[in-house]
Amino acid sequence: MKQNEYGPIPGSAIFSGISGKKAIIMAANVRIASVAQGIFKAAKETDSALFMELARSECDLQGGYTGLTPHDFSKKMKEAAKEVQFDAWALHADHITIKKGDSSEIEQTKQLIDAQIAAGYTSFAIDASHLFNFEGKTVKEELKENIQVTTDLAHYIKNKMRGQEFGLEVEVGEIGRKDGEGLILTKPEEAVGFIKALNENDVYPHVLAIANGSTHGHTYDANGNVVEQLSIDIPRTKEIAKALRANNLKVGIAQHGITGTPRDLINLHFPKGDIIKGNVGTFWQDVVFSTLKVYEPVLYRDIQEWTLAKYRPANPEKKDRQIFDGNCKFAIKEFYKEIYSVEKDTEHAIQAMAYAESLIFFKAFSSQGTASLVRKSS
Ligand SMILES: [Zn+2]
Repeated sequence: MKQNEYGPIPGSAIFSGISGKKAIIMAANVRIASVAQGIFKAAKETDSALFMELARSECDLQGGYTGLTPHDFSKKMKEAAKEVQFDAWALHADHITIKKGDSSEIEQTKQLIDAQIAAGYTSFAIDASHLFNFEGKTVKEELKENIQVTTDLAHYIKNKMRGQEFGLEVEVGEIGRKDGEGLILTKPEEAVGFIKALNENDVYPHVLAIANGSTHGHTYDANGNVVEQLSIDIPRTKEIAKALRANNLKVGIAQHGITGTPRDLINLHFPKGDIIKGNVGTFWQDVVFSTLKVYEPVLYRDIQEWTLAKYRPANPEKKDRQIFDGNCKFAIKEFYKEIYSVEKDTEHAIQAMAYAESLIFFKAFSSQGTASLVRKSS
């Protein structure tokens, strides 16, 4: 695989390279780019293929809440990969979310996709799961709008990629959505019906995000303290993977919202190979903030004060700790200049911590050796 200067490879090359292997590929939502070098370094050493990604909310044409546009994000990830000389990674657009599905939203979405393609993205996640019709009587009725919008955007991406291969992720159940009884989980027949309908429309996703009990970000107890996330429904996840296989549908599962799930549990109990992509986001933000807390106490205090002043009024019942945890992501854009101009030793500590934590993720995901598999098959 001769890559131009360690730039991203197609997401499809990663998925086909690891086909049949019991491994999960980490997808890191790098909200603060300073962690990237450490992650790439661990990926290189453990021979683990990798996705670097940001969601639409995190990174759009206005910079999302991280202050990064697709162009900025791509540039920073390419620089970090080149620095480390790591070649088996894809640049992924996580959650290209469509909430209403009207023509102006679709038009804006296409502009975002244009910018992502111009910036060299090699993989895309279309998320129209919010368009679920709860009044629908059949799977087809429930998913009609999701299928339409996903098809339209998948065809748009294919057309704009002009023959270049790319990875495609789609989403059937909104992650973290609750009703009166708790989290709403995707049913096997919904996953099967969704992928079948997309295949009939000539859309062949590599990976499917389902709602299986995870939430994005931290999990809290009744007192607002951060606790381990133990809610991912492993039997349901296996059932869905089995149903997809039984119907001869070649699509793996993307596990979203991994932050907080103990890594020993992932290592021993996650169905690796059924789940083939594991998204880790908030965790990397924690790595940066916990380092700043000690290395840059003045900056950390400013970030804390800004976040609490802005979000306390809307959350009078919550403790400061939870208000900060839930909203510090919005401070990234506000303090962009300061966060990206910290002292050298701070930068070093962030990278070292990201490196060490990545080793643990790659071990828990059994992704060692996947980078070579991807190189061999490309
Ligand atoms: Zn997600």
